[in-house]
Amino acid sequence: MQVPKYIFICGALISGLGKGVVTSSIGTNLQIRGKKIDVIKIDPYLNIDAGTMNPYEHGETYVTSDGSEIDVDFGHYERMLNLEMRGDQNITTGQVYQAVIDQERKGDFLGKTVQVIPHITDEIKRRIKSVAERDSELDALIIEVGGTIGDIESQPFLEAIRQLKREMPSEDSLLVLVTYILEPPNLKEQKTKPTQHAVRELQSMGLNPDMIVARGGHELTDLAKQKIVMFCDVPANAVFSLPDLETVLEAPLYLDKQGLGSTLNLKLRYEDVSADWIEQERLVEKFLITEPAVNIAVTGKYTEIADSYISVKEAIHHAAAHNNVNARINFISTEEYESNPDKIHTLNEFDGILVPGGFGSRGAEGKIAVIKHARENKIPFLGICYGFQLAVIEFARNVCNLKDANTTEISKTSEHPVIDILPEQKAVVDKGGTMRLGKQKILLKDDSLFEELYQSREIFERHRHRYEVNPDYIEIIEKHGLVFSGKSDDEKRMETLEIKDHPCFIATQFHPEFQSRPDKASIPYYNFIKCAKTRSEQRK
Ligand code: GLN
Repeated sequence: MQVPKYIFICGALISGLGKGVVTSSIGTNLQIRGKKIDVIKIDPYLNIDAGTMNPYEHGETYVTSDGSEIDVDFGHYERMLNLEMRGDQNITTGQVYQAVIDQERKGDFLGKTVQVIPHITDEIKRRIKSVAERDSELDALIIEVGGTIGDIESQPFLEAIRQLKREMPSEDSLLVLVTYILEPPNLKEQKTKPTQHAVRELQSMGLNPDMIVARGGHELTDLAKQKIVMFCDVPANAVFSLPDLETVLEAPLYLDKQGLGSTLNLKLRYEDVSADWIEQERLVEKFLITEPAVNIAVTGKYTEIADSYISVKEAIHHAAAHNNVNARINFISTEEYESNPDKIHTLNEFDGILVPGGFGSRGAEGKIAVIKHARENKIPFLGICYGFQLAVIEFARNVCNLKDANTTEISKTSEHPVIDILPEQKAVVDKGGTMRLGKQKILLKDDSLFEELYQSREIFERHRHRYEVNPDYIEIIEKHGLVFSGKSDDEKRMETLEIKDHPCFIATQFHPEFQSRPDKASIPYYNFIKCAKTRSEQRK
């Protein structure tokens, strides 16, 4: 059986460096040369997974096909590398300690003292190897270690990496250090000293970087590169510059132009095949379009951090690129429409309005007002998950005349709980709550808009929700002209909605953004942007 090579990616100095982009760029570089790769992300925090983490702090919760709620970086990997990943490819300190402590309670260690080395490090290695061994065709497994060198939490992981590297021939593993090059404005000179210290810190743990990627506002100067070569003990062909780029899609090309591919081939002793970047270059061109533009409003709650809607944002950009337009995304908080209802008219300046997923009551009434405005003023609208549920509530209130229609997530006393937990779910939910997660089958109605868009009666999309359209209200809502065009396999759950006499009023209970890819835009998003483009052209 073939054992993949291991490529470890660590970060120095600051978080938010773009290690994920480097991981994806190295992955793309290998893929384009015909290699099969996969990725593990290590998150040294103590949480078991990202499911309950606050989007303010951590960016969105990404959902994989297998229903794992996972770190936002998985979205970047899946999009850039076109992978379909699983939950066990995210390793956290919490998982590792929990597993070791469970074994200890079962008596698996036969009364021995349980320690970080070897017990925790063994568990880390076991988890890495189990992903590596799952696919016998895998050529390389890229393991990104979250956090920065020097963090207390990442030490056991770095020790496990040291051991793994020692256990294998040197050409079977590679350690990449991603660092940041400071450029103090008053000095106008790139400073490498912090990087040198980070390398020393790594060396004190028995690790030496094989390759360094220097992030920064500008391209790495020759002088700074020479210093890195000299003080960090890496050859010149293994130091790469990665400044901020227009789009992250450019990063693989940018790095390969400096010889990343040949260095990888050389170090890992892969056959030196050349790469054909033409497709990738064409794709990048599409993403660099600046005109014509469409103005899109994304309304939400966590508007302070663009990262909380990163997949939505990316899906909009994919859809725009394939419609040959540039999408200007404006994140707006809906709470202001609650205190200041007249402001709703400012929405008219947008070519499309997207109400994304969300939880809880804050800003929800504002979102309902936004949906009403989009419906009545025929502004292209796309509702996702909570946006779908709130569109049902808006329609029930204002078209079906069910005045206090609501979701039981917000009001337990509403006379018309049009969004509720399904009856058969209630017993389960009372016991601690269950989310409907991951990839599920959806059946689309004949002759519906969704069927026409997807060109299929049967589709699969990813989910993350607890509440559903209340079956008691489906008939009355549909009688008033809203069509539930997509349903779950058992037909109990409503999955898509559309209304006629509107250029584009669509919503999905699922999250199509999770399956959107740069070269394959999500279908509902594509249609939404297409309609926004038409509106913008008509308004000229
Ligand atoms: N809060 C809603 C639910 O739990 C929607 C969830 C979401 O938008 N992801 O069903």
